[in-house]
Amino acid sequence: MDGYFCPQNMEELNKRTICPACGNGLDNVFFTGSERMFGLGGEFPYGECARCTAVFIREVPIDLGSYYSGNYYSFREFRQSGTVGRMLKKMRYKAYQRGISLKDPVYFRWLSLLRGKPSDRIADIGCGNGQLLGELSYCGFQTLHGYDPFLDSSRDYSGFSLRKTDYFDIEERYDILMFHHSLEHLADPAAVFGMLEKILNPGGRVLIRVPVTDGQVWKEEREYWFQLDAPRHLFIPSTKSIQLMADRFGLELYESEFDSLDNQFWGTELYKRGKPFAGTDIKKEFTSKELNSFGDKAKLYNQKQQGDQACFYLRKR
Ligand SMILES: [Zn+2]
Repeated sequence: MDGYFCPQNMEELNKRTICPACGNGLDNVFFTGSERMFGLGGEFPYGECARCTAVFIREVPIDLGSYYSGNYYSFREFRQSGTVGRMLKKMRYKAYQRGISLKDPVYFRWLSLLRGKPSDRIADIGCGNGQLLGELSYCGFQTLHGYDPFLDSSRDYSGFSLRKTDYFDIEERYDILMFHHSLEHLADPAAVFGMLEKILNPGGRVLIRVPVTDGQVWKEEREYWFQLDAPRHLFIPSTKSIQLMADRFGLELYESEFDSLDNQFWGTELYKRGKPFAGTDIKKEFTSKELNSFGDKAKLYNQKQQGDQACFYLRKR
């Protein structure tokens, strides 16, 4: 853990004081985050925008890659369904489209709100092993590309392909782009939104699933918040940040939903107890009654728009 941030160095302290989402530089609040998932500690300077309440790292660690070691981003191999499984999944998706609901996978809802058509060109940014793209191919979607700079190599599967490519190096255009918990790992959200102009077809839609500072847990627990996840999370928006960036870059925010989970409560409580997430047995730390109540509380927070993560649906004007 080589320190990149020296509190004695005023020049370092003064870096990135402006909100990368809305550009506000007035009255922003500065605080320090610590690496808690693996218990590595350290001090990472963050800012909180006084205008849109986004949280942003003030300087990206030069050794950021080293914080992704361990179990953080291990790819499980893509699990392919057999012929019968694929057929059943396709039938289930068709039934869903006709309004027959059978305990559906959550991506059916994403696709519905994205107005997905089989002919749409779809890209998943930060796709990991491509499991979601594989599932979409079973639903009948035909052009599916995943981008992830952390892949070992680019590879093609039956029905979709994965590319070891940075988001900013994408050259093709798409009708649907999805960011499933990848935006928070990119330091410059305005550049991410600006890139949409280039890679999104007219009328194209975007799904951004991301932690948000609208969450009550963030407001109450601050740097112990599970999803602050210093120093890996470089930028965490609020609903307002997303709205402001949409307005600025010619997008319409046409739908949003909170989809936070029980981990906002038990993860944050672990960090308050000084325990890392990695290597801690949650079932020994909390009773099953407590864990159930966390799940119920997450549902309630989502209804009240106080959950700590959300799905944003945008379309190109
Ligand atoms: Zn802001």
